[in-house]
Amino acid sequence: MTQPIAVYPGSFDPITKGHIDIIERCHSLFQKLYILVTESKKKSYSFSIEERIDLVNSCVSHFDNIEVCSFQGLTVEFVQQTKANFIIRGLRSGSDFEYEQAMASMNKNLYSDAETILIYARQDLSSVSSSLIKEVASYGGDVSPFVPTVVADALKNKFRGEYVK
Ligand code: ADP
Repeated sequence: MTQPIAVYPGSFDPITKGHIDIIERCHSLFQKLYILVTESKKKSYSFSIEERIDLVNSCVSHFDNIEVCSFQGLTVEFVQQTKANFIIRGLRSGSDFEYEQAMASMNKNLYSDAETILIYARQDLSSVSSSLIKEVASYGGDVSPFVPTVVADALKNKFRGEYVK
């Protein structure tokens, strides 16, 4: 039987407790879980690819079946190269559903050997998004309930000086 290998792709700009919850809940289902920090030409990011990878790494280094990677190109190309058979995504709301459904369907068309698995967000983390976290942090708000300490510190450094009361 083929070993289950999964890829969890995302911007992780920055990683939040919502992402980490998904990782914690599914990693043991797989022999290997790649966390793919994506870089799209169409998106602008607050954290560089190196910063995003470093932050993810510092949150998942205690899992021995997880590897953090980046890749220029389609997620399905990375999936194919790593011989992964599952793509993990999280689902917070109805609006996530529309987007995730379209993405899963496109990925299936592009590479039919991988299945997308959607995992429901934990209820108390379902309104946590990287963009909302950045907005709150940029106004000096306390985001520590929603991100690991290392991320809260990185956000403070990122927005230091930008916020004047
Ligand atoms: P992308 O730009 O690819 O959507 P994100 O980092 O925003 O990257 O999200 C990556 C995946 O993680 C998406 O499937 C998203 O729905 C999921 N996700 C983001 N935040 C949460 C959360 N709070 N709970 C569960 N899943 C989440």
